[in-house]
Amino acid sequence: MIHLENIEKLYRTDTIETIALDKINLTIEKGEFLSVMGPSGCGKSTLLNIMGLLDAPSKGEIKIDGQTLTHLSDKQLARFRNKKIGFIFQSFHLINDLNVLDNVELPLLYRDTTARERRRLASEALEKVGLSNRMKHFPTQLSGGQKQRVAIARAIVGQPEIILADEPTGNLDSVMGAEIMNILLQLNNSERSTIVMVTHDELMAKKTHRLVRLFDGSQVQ
Ligand code: ADP
Ligand code: ADP
Repeated sequence: MIHLENIEKLYRTDTIETIALDKINLTIEKGEFLSVMGPSGCGKSTLLNIMGLLDAPSKGEIKIDGQTLTHLSDKQLARFRNKKIGFIFQSFHLINDLNVLDNVELPLLYRDTTARERRRLASEALEKVGLSNRMKHFPTQLSGGQKQRVAIARAIVGQPEIILADEPTGNLDSVMGAEIMNILLQLNNSERSTIVMVTHDELMAKKTHRLVRLFDGSQVQ
């Protein structure tokens, strides 16, 4: 599903060069739930951003679904990303002056979907995360766990095959964190979503199929 070959990422400024990723080779199968761990600054977010086509590698190739993506234009990448990939972030990234339903519909605005169809898909996604009773609420009226559930609904509304989650439980207490983890496990189980999750929580990583550890930009496990 996702194939990374000799991925390198360098950040250069006038004075310093940082090797954020150093020759990463990784294949993630369809339906796999992979977790990524490692100390702060080891390259986890960079790796996720490259897999999510938000950031280009300095060297190496990325293939998703058999398609090599290294040479596509920004516009082509954006289209591919919108169709195939859903993102979940630690800090939710909801839009505070849109209600829950409108937040969830956002990714569908870039598609050829009628308003009625958008509403149907968004309601369905909210049902999957157990938030059907909060559709007209605004993000500021929700708990952290509920906000993250809205963010998950937004990530899955376009029925992407891949979900990339950057510390999705990092801002939540352990009860809400466990709830979010259960939703991700369920998406992986019932919809066969391929999931890559960055986490600092060993127990959550244990619940996934495979763990990759990074240290200083290199894969050590
Ligand atoms: P993690 O997610 O594991 O905390 P990151 O992927 O955010 O690590 O960062 C990996 C390394 O790349 C760090 O050393 C960081 O300082 C560096 N880095 C990340 N983004 C930039 C940037 N935009 N410019 C320069 N260096 C960066
Ligand atoms: P934090 O909570 O540490 O601020 P997040 O998990 O929210 O980090 O975001 C991780 C990274 O993804 C950040 O580098 C951020 O710039 C980037 N990012 C967040 N939201 C989006 C988005 N909607 N589109 C593109 N990049 C994003």
